[in-house]
Amino acid sequence: MTSRMLPTTKRLIDGLFNGSSSAVARTSLARSITLVESTLQRDREQAELLLDHVLEQRKAKHEGHTGDSSFRVGIAGPPGAGKSTFIETLGLSLTKKGHKVAVLAIDPSSSVTGGSILGDKTRMTYLANCPDAYVRPSPTRGTLGGVAQHTNEIVLLCEACGYDIILVESVGLGQSEIIIDDTVDTVMLLVPPAGGDELQGSKKGIMEIADVVVVNKADGELKSAAKHTAVDYMHALQLARRKEPEWKPTVKMCSAREGEGIDGVWDVLTEFRDTMNAVNKIEGKRSRQSSKWMWNQLNEELMSLAKKNRFVKDEASSLAPDLAHGFISPRSAARKLLEDFLTHPRNK
Ligand code: GDP
Repeated sequence: MTSRMLPTTKRLIDGLFNGSSSAVARTSLARSITLVESTLQRDREQAELLLDHVLEQRKAKHEGHTGDSSFRVGIAGPPGAGKSTFIETLGLSLTKKGHKVAVLAIDPSSSVTGGSILGDKTRMTYLANCPDAYVRPSPTRGTLGGVAQHTNEIVLLCEACGYDIILVESVGLGQSEIIIDDTVDTVMLLVPPAGGDELQGSKKGIMEIADVVVVNKADGELKSAAKHTAVDYMHALQLARRKEPEWKPTVKMCSAREGEGIDGVWDVLTEFRDTMNAVNKIEGKRSRQSSKWMWNQLNEELMSLAKKNRFVKDEASSLAPDLAHGFISPRSAARKLLEDFLTHPRNK
């Protein structure tokens, strides 16, 4: 790897630290995110240098301080629950209180379905036009490990740029819950009013990782259905295994469209943060996440080196007939490939 930072990367860094409200900082942030997500070797090297620099600055800033002033909140829930509407209402209310809010989206399911639910349409127009908010137009996509890795890096870039609240919306289906829990400090599940019997099975996975459940659309004709749903979730959460001994998952109701109950939801989220911070659990969670991403990254890089290695490829081809006939087990074949890779780690 070359270790020279290009002048373009240097300019991105200068731009990032220019204060989040400036147009230069926003453009630099958007370009830095593109760089971090690029798969080109040259970009990957520059991305690594950029992130290292960002982390050095972070270290210098936090020298002597414990904890971190940023708060990363994950928002999951089925399509149509009102996540975008909620984030826009919450985001605007937070900027009015003096916060700088960044909104990211992740969509790990799109690597399977090939498309994104959101596409690249402009999202949350009011919030996106607010000088104290940054709304990333397209979701981070890719493999499970890749999405978590990139999202974490993008979070660091946003924080370097001065955003203190990071809202990560999970727009994909399926595995997104796991990813989101690996990326943020707290997970909020947003659900629409629904019949009680729908709760149990389908949402079990996400219920296990939710710190706060919010029933949205508690307005007009839907209000009483929302109340029933909230009670159902309270019962379900009482039966569920607790994620943290210090925290009893809470159920709230709101109307994102009317802007009602949003402050109450935010109060519970910050209460969670304060409770967890008091026992250093946010720091602990972040450090576990970093360690997990490190191993993920190593895993991905080793696999990509092994698959490109000429000796490994040759051995795989010569083993193919025996493997196809069942004369050698996949387990021993894999071991042979590993031995080849360890003997010839580099292509000559
Ligand atoms: P997402 O797919 O979870 O991001 O959901 P959206 O934010 O796009 O909202 C889906 C639909 O629900 C839209 O038609 C919204 O106008 C509507 N919606 C969102 N929040 C509320 C709410 O608080 N009350 C009502 N009645 N409708 C809402």
